[in-house]
Amino acid sequence: MRVLHYPHPTLLRPAKPLARVDAELRKMVGEMFELMYQHDGIGLAAPQVDLPYRLFVVNASGDPKEKDLEYAFINPVLSKPKGSEEKEEGCLSLPKLYAPVRRPATIHVSAYNMAGQAVEFDADGLLARVIQHENDHLDGVMFIDRISQTTLMDVRDELENFREEFQHRRETGEIPADAKIFEHLAQLEKLRT
Ligand code: ZN
Repeated sequence: MRVLHYPHPTLLRPAKPLARVDAELRKMVGEMFELMYQHDGIGLAAPQVDLPYRLFVVNASGDPKEKDLEYAFINPVLSKPKGSEEKEEGCLSLPKLYAPVRRPATIHVSAYNMAGQAVEFDADGLLARVIQHENDHLDGVMFIDRISQTTLMDVRDELENFREEFQHRRETGEIPADAKIFEHLAQLEKLRT
C-alpha cells in the first residue's frame, strides 16, 4: 500500500459503498493508519491508496499514541453544514502544497465504524475540516478543486510539476495506463461493494 499522488486517475474517480466489515477490511484500515502516520498525516481516504471504497481514517492529533482519537469512517454521509471558515489545508496526495480552503465550520456525520455499527455525531473545528476533506476524496474531489481562482493561480506551477512527475512515472511504466487502472478498480469493487 502506498499513497498515490495527483493526478492519478483513482483520485479523480468516485468510490463505491462497502458491503460489509470483515477481518480483511480491518487489516486494510490498520495499514491505512500506519501509512498516514508515516507521512505525518491526520487523515487518509481509501482512493488515496488505490482502493475504490467509501472509507477513510482520521486522527486529528496526528499522534499514533492517541488511539482514542483514531476514527475509521465507512460509507459516511455528511449533512447539516453550518457556518463558514477558511483555513489552510494540505493533502498527502499533493505533498508540500498548502492553500486556504473555505468550508462549513460544523457538520453532521453518519457512518459505520469498524465494528459495523452505525455512528452519528456533530463535528466542528479541525475534525470537521478533516472529515470534509477526506469525504471529498470519496467523490473524486481534491482540495485544489475548492480553492479560489487567485489561489489556484498561486499554485499553478506546483500543480504543473505534479502533472509532469505523473507523466514521467507513466512513461517509465511505474504507473499503468488508465484502462489497466480502471480494470483493477472494477475487480476490487466486485469483491467488496
Ligand atoms: Zn487529501
